Amino acid sequence: MNRIGILTSGGDAPGMNAALRSAVRTALDLGIGIYGIWEGYQGMVDGGDRIRELTWESVGGILQRGGTIIGTARCKDFRTREGRLKAARNLVNNGIDGLIIIGGDGSLTGGAIFREEWPELIADLIQSGEIPPDSAEDYPNLVIAGLPGSIDNDMYGTEMTIGADTALHRITEAIDAITSTASSHQRSFVVEVMGKNCGYLAMMGALAAGADWVFIPEVPPDPESWKEEMCQALSTGRKAGRRDSIVVVAEGACDKKGNPITSQEIKITLEKKLGEDTRITILGHVQRGGSPTAFDRNLGTILGYSAVNELKETKPEDEPQLIGMRGNRVVSSPLMECVEITKQISNYADENQFDKVLELRGSGFQATYQILQTLLQAGPNPVEKPKNPFRIAVMHSGGPAPGMNTVVRAAVRWGSDQGHTMLGISNGFPGLIEGDLKELSWMDVSGWVSQGGAEIGTNRTIPNEGDFYSIARTIEQEQIDGILLIGGESGYDSVYGMFSRQKDFPTFRIPIVCLPATIDNDRPGSELSIGADTALNSIVYAVDQIKRSAVASRRCFVVETMGRYCGYLALMSGLATGAERVYIHEEGITLKDLQDDVDHLVTGFNQGKRLGLLIRNESAHPVYTTDFMVRLFEVEGKEIFDVRQAILGHQQQGGNPTPFDRIQGTRLAVQSIDFILKEIGKKDPRTVFIGLEGGKIQFTGMEDYTSLEDWEYGRPISQWWMDLRPIARLLAQPGPQQWK
Ligand code: ADP
Repeated sequence: MNRIGILTSGGDAPGMNAALRSAVRTALDLGIGIYGIWEGYQGMVDGGDRIRELTWESVGGILQRGGTIIGTARCKDFRTREGRLKAARNLVNNGIDGLIIIGGDGSLTGGAIFREEWPELIADLIQSGEIPPDSAEDYPNLVIAGLPGSIDNDMYGTEMTIGADTALHRITEAIDAITSTASSHQRSFVVEVMGKNCGYLAMMGALAAGADWVFIPEVPPDPESWKEEMCQALSTGRKAGRRDSIVVVAEGACDKKGNPITSQEIKITLEKKLGEDTRITILGHVQRGGSPTAFDRNLGTILGYSAVNELKETKPEDEPQLIGMRGNRVVSSPLMECVEITKQISNYADENQFDKVLELRGSGFQATYQILQTLLQAGPNPVEKPKNPFRIAVMHSGGPAPGMNTVVRAAVRWGSDQGHTMLGISNGFPGLIEGDLKELSWMDVSGWVSQGGAEIGTNRTIPNEGDFYSIARTIEQEQIDGILLIGGESGYDSVYGMFSRQKDFPTFRIPIVCLPATIDNDRPGSELSIGADTALNSIVYAVDQIKRSAVASRRCFVVETMGRYCGYLALMSGLATGAERVYIHEEGITLKDLQDDVDHLVTGFNQGKRLGLLIRNESAHPVYTTDFMVRLFEVEGKEIFDVRQAILGHQQQGGNPTPFDRIQGTRLAVQSIDFILKEIGKKDPRTVFIGLEGGKIQFTGMEDYTSLEDWEYGRPISQWWMDLRPIARLLAQPGPQQWK
């Protein structure tokens, strides 16, 4: 392959710029020329100045921008062979034989067709004399990598598409805002979200925002009864004390016969049958807009980097690939197959074969829908209660993590729905030691889905030797059958303390699940912990603001993030904001590093650079502290640039949880309660920690805690995200290394 062309096509999606920046810089670093094709396939058909070489600097400062700086379009011409013939000519004339296409299934289908036809198109162009005769040899085939760019998250072959997380943020923010006004006036709202064939945004938005009813295309309701069922559920909710009713509807929702379920129809139904004052909000293009989230920036960045590396290794005869992400790992799958299955799903939807649609969406989608159906009820299922309901306690331990309340809400409702008694322990281990707990009912946790902080209280106290006796007494007196601990290091260590004393205290032989909830993301057995995504987004938002404050001056910022001894927040925020240097404890800092960094800064600012951004984890080094570094850079950079420090404090632990933290928190809570219920009564019930590993929920036995945890620094011995360091380093360097 000689040169790469890159385009964004179809609907725009936040995060496309990150993919572009990353692909361009990766290619240049490898010594491969890369050309931007403006306005999607239209630019390829038109040629001329719509195909231009991209430089390292041309993609600077775009990470935080929504949309796509090279434009996107829908192009009729490209659907015709004539149009594709022109496109092939323009690529050959620019020496391009590799393509990165960022778009939805339509765009990727177009790309795949183009590649199939390529040898014929080249032959035709040679025959008509539009390109030189040796082109057949020089351009035997086009190598293609497709990146899924679409807010709908409807692409087979990837867990997430670039843009879906940002869209979900916009939807959740909007429903949160609507919920507060709706509850003030006791109104009903119908919120219409995007998604013609795919209910992902509606379902996840409803789950994340705690909506009361939802319609998605994949699960069409019965045409005769949906109105009655919805009204029944909403009026039960009112009777139970709900002050608002929020119905979320995907724009493509239909009933089983294929009749559209419109927001207008829902509104009329609610007004007629319930006499409710009902308003409609159609979120529309707000969902596409705005600055991409940390996740979308990093997804785009990782996929852009991987696409170039994939193309570099691709031979002309190789099948084109879709580069996607599954369980935090890049996966590449045959593009045509992904596109075909994606198309197949939408064909099934057009034919009203929704059971097939649901099946192809996968088990995760189906399970999430089931969880949503339970949590949105107005109260526990009125089925016959178990004869001997269990008593399950939920508690926190550790610093506050956004999403803790969400987890408690889901656990309480999931347990209550099955007829069990759910207990909330106040303030972590001191509460358990003192027996300070109370029953939590369905409506006690109403509204907790979106609230930051920890309503039942959290605290870092670890029980001392004498406390274990008191804990055993509480468990016995309160007849606690199982415990869900939602927290961080202190919680895990304390539960390990109980686990290792089972011999002395037989009451500790109850099922206990530790659920990772800490912004530090430092728990073994889980690649991500609840709260980390929210903290990451808070950091990225703050750094964006800081960067904007320094547009005209030559200034270097040293930003300090939390994370204790885990560099996750520092590295991921560095990747998402384009920081040129990230300091983490895992790598350490040497005097030589600091000397090199000073040299880079001086050279950079002397060459006209206006802003320097360095991100440092709070515990990166005991001596080379943030303060030390700032002073060092100040002295060394005197008269060339000035230095400011920004210590991002507790705002990182505060804030309302992001959709990801709410959704994953809910999923983990449900699985934890199911696990506890299954273990209760067993001869040797397990103590475990739950987590997300490779995109799946897993339980790890507490007996493995000692071998997975780095006890000295309170973080996992192996951390998956460390693999991303080379990408961060490459993209943040001042220019390509290979060409120097
Ligand atoms: P998305 O990529 O977001 O699904 P579209 O379906 O509108 O968006 O596709 C974007 C563009 O991709 C189209 O305007 C067209 O130029 C090209 N395209 C889509 N499908 C085909 C096809 N079957 N053949 C050739 N080009 C196609």
